Amino acid sequence: MARDLNPKCKQCRRIGEKLFLKGDRCQTGKCALVKKNYPPGLHGQKGRKKPSDYGAQLNEKQKTKKMYRILENDIRLVLKRAQNKKGNSSENLLKLLEMRLDNAVFRLGLASSRDQARQIVNHGLVLVNGKKAGIPSYRLKDGDLIVLKDRLKRGKYFQAQKEKMKKNILPSWLYLDLEKTEGKVLHEPKTEDLEKIGVNAQMIVEYYSR
Ligand code: SF4
Repeated sequence: MARDLNPKCKQCRRIGEKLFLKGDRCQTGKCALVKKNYPPGLHGQKGRKKPSDYGAQLNEKQKTKKMYRILENDIRLVLKRAQNKKGNSSENLLKLLEMRLDNAVFRLGLASSRDQARQIVNHGLVLVNGKKAGIPSYRLKDGDLIVLKDRLKRGKYFQAQKEKMKKNILPSWLYLDLEKTEGKVLHEPKTEDLEKIGVNAQMIVEYYSR
């Protein structure tokens, strides 16, 4: 499956924002953006120039792709769906991205990063409503139940992850039963959830409408 293989910290430094691609490391002083807050490359230390409107829109689009670990074709497809749905296209775009299965697994704290969530899903270790869901882009609906397979829950990985889950702050649209490690989609993300993501989706819509 195609994915972005560029070094993760360089991707953050290029964008100029933390994209939280490396799990726990991103929360520590070892984060590359804390140590080298300038773009990668020979001339990076000269700093960042103020981008043009086009440059800012392009940057926002690239940031979103890297954050959600998707490629150009995927974001175009999601935008098309967002524009075909009723309501505000930029809100719809973020809702569709948030309701991907790999993102929900990450938001629930069942994985430390979206890449890890994607891997767990790809390996068929996530069940949605009792059935194996092996597609990271699987679109969740209200009321869907997300459970990890027992095989994963019994492993060392998950025991360590469970401790971190206790401190995880959930968005309002997700519920987690920590005892059963069972996640539930309560409803679509609300505007206040979308505002916390830190993506200006309107700029993405404008970028593609040029
Ligand atoms: Fe980005 Fe910092 Fe995480 Fe590296 S450690 S992926 S720079 S947030």
